[in-house]
Amino acid sequence: MQVSRNNLLFVLLFAGGIVLPTAILSFLSFRNIQNEIYLSQKNFDENLNAFQNEVEEAIEKEQAKIYQETKAASLFLYEQPQGLLDFGHAAEFKSVEGLDAIFLFNNGNLIYPDMTSKKFFKSSNFSNSVPSALDKKLYQVETSGLKDSIAQKIYLEQRSRSLRPTSFFFESKEEQIQNILGLIRFYYKNKKYDEALHLLEILESNPHQQGYLHADLTYAVYLLHFEILVFQRKHQEAQDYCLSVLAQFLDKQNIDDISSSRYFFESAFTRILSFENLSQEKREAFWNLRENFNRQLGYMDILYYNRDLFQEILNDDVSSKEGILYKNTEEVTLFKMSYPYLSGDQVVIAVINKDAYKARLQSKLKTVVQSYKNIPFSITENSDKLLMGEIPEGAPIIAQHYISDAFEWEFTLYEKDMQDIHKETRHRMFLMYGLMLFALITVIFGSFFMFRFITQERKLLAMKANFLSSVSHELKTPLTSIKMFAEMMARGRLQRAEKVQEYSTLIGKEASRLENLIGAILNYTRMEHGTGAFKWERLDFSICAKKVFDAVEDIGVEKGLTFYTHFEPNVFVMGDYTALYSLVQNLIDNAIKYTEAPGDIKVDVRSDSEWVIFSVADTGIGIAASEQKNIFNDFYRVGDEMTRSTKGSGLGLATVKRVAETHKATISLVSKPGKGSTFTVKFKKAE
Ligand code: ADP
Repeated sequence: MQVSRNNLLFVLLFAGGIVLPTAILSFLSFRNIQNEIYLSQKNFDENLNAFQNEVEEAIEKEQAKIYQETKAASLFLYEQPQGLLDFGHAAEFKSVEGLDAIFLFNNGNLIYPDMTSKKFFKSSNFSNSVPSALDKKLYQVETSGLKDSIAQKIYLEQRSRSLRPTSFFFESKEEQIQNILGLIRFYYKNKKYDEALHLLEILESNPHQQGYLHADLTYAVYLLHFEILVFQRKHQEAQDYCLSVLAQFLDKQNIDDISSSRYFFESAFTRILSFENLSQEKREAFWNLRENFNRQLGYMDILYYNRDLFQEILNDDVSSKEGILYKNTEEVTLFKMSYPYLSGDQVVIAVINKDAYKARLQSKLKTVVQSYKNIPFSITENSDKLLMGEIPEGAPIIAQHYISDAFEWEFTLYEKDMQDIHKETRHRMFLMYGLMLFALITVIFGSFFMFRFITQERKLLAMKANFLSSVSHELKTPLTSIKMFAEMMARGRLQRAEKVQEYSTLIGKEASRLENLIGAILNYTRMEHGTGAFKWERLDFSICAKKVFDAVEDIGVEKGLTFYTHFEPNVFVMGDYTALYSLVQNLIDNAIKYTEAPGDIKVDVRSDSEWVIFSVADTGIGIAASEQKNIFNDFYRVGDEMTRSTKGSGLGLATVKRVAETHKATISLVSKPGKGSTFTVKFKKAE
């Protein structure tokens, strides 16, 4: 009782030491999780503001960067010689990622590209001129030479010189041109290049005649001229000719059809660049010329197709303090940059490459968005096309506004669903609960096993003490007798031979009692050390049992007990002879020990198809149901050592149990106090 109370105290201390702190910790964690939901909401609100600011900042910064780059590019262009022919460094041209073209104006004049009639871009004229008029002036194909003031002058001069015009002049202008072209074609075909060239020169030097040519035809004539020079290997002349056509092209107040001029220059530049004897310096110059020409021509295309917009944006006042003004159509987006961004009368009109510009902004936004993963937002273009984020269904909108100067980008922030916040904390909650549960289970099981371990340990200690007192008593009694009889015989007082014989027999008996006891202890320890020392063999169980029976029968008979035996022959089991011997011996010994005369003992060995069944039944004192489980434990004996009449070690049945276990046999016990006990052991039959 004392012992178990101590154990209980210990377990209580142990459990209290762990359970209490665990419970407190769990409680605190639970409260913490509750707080976390609140904090998440708060955090979200704070993050929301930061996110909004960062998105706006990212866009603003990137746009400002584009403006800076545009400014740098325009300053670079301002500093370059403006004439196309002087513009030597194509490679150094500063382009801006996100822009398709940059146009420079100063005081209303177009400065770059340097290809068109500048006067039309004087702001005063520009604002007054109707777009259609501009169209005509800029791009109308020159169908009438008379409209051209220079051509008109030459025509009048010729008229005044030739009062009597040749037959050539009696024909209509178109007929005259057709005749000359026919002649040139004829000479060219017959490889009379000099004649062809001569006629070409006449045609070209007469702007009046030339005025009747369609723009396509004009450049076809130029190209023919150029090709003939190349055929004649007059490379230097060909180069000069090409440059003179270019100079003429740039000198013009109006631009002819762009595609035919582009075709001429592209063909001529490519041909010149293929000249073998061209110096490196010249090659570079022509290469740069070609690059610049193409770029400027490309810009002219843009200008041509968007002239209305250019006109509008040039006339519009810039009210923004940055000096930036946007104009937007479905096809094109422009911005104008002027004072104070640029100095004085400088104006830049930049044509945005929508995809590239958007990509620049979006890549900046992406980095911002990545660090605010939990905020529901959307960026839409023209209020329907989703660019970034997502539009959560039914979520209330917290804030919504436009974020880009260039595009209609709407940035919307949505209220976060509380469910989402819960979801975020839920996995942490699960982890916490899991840990708490785990700790609790560990503590409960730990306490349970500890309690059991301690009780068992103490029980064993008690039993060992019991065993020691019992064994020492067992050893001492026969030794005392042996010593006493031996002393008596040594003194030589025994005269009669029968007495000597009687004492010697008694000494022998006591010695064999000692031997048995020591044998039991040895058997037990042998079992305790495992089956390593076993010698496994196929043996007849009946022979083994009979041998034991023969050795102990006398003791029972002497006690006044009656034996009934049955030993079925040839019942084979796999086992260790010594171990099986001690099993049989312990069971029969106990039957004899715990049965008073007159009583019966049945020893039975039989078999069925699968098993060898060994049983020992007695009509002895029996074993209470409550004790039946314990008697197989080491050192266990029923009752108290002092009050017990039988001698023993409490190791007999423990040995039986171990032998049975090592032989994979089962033991069963049927017993009733006062009626007797039957122990049955079933072995697996050996083949
Ligand atoms: P012991 O040395 O005490 O006989 P055992 O391990 O052989 O030790 O037996 C344990 C206890 O089981 C015995 O003390 C005894 O009380 C009880 N017991 C064993 N066999 C019998 C039996 N045939 N009849 C009644 N009690 C028995």
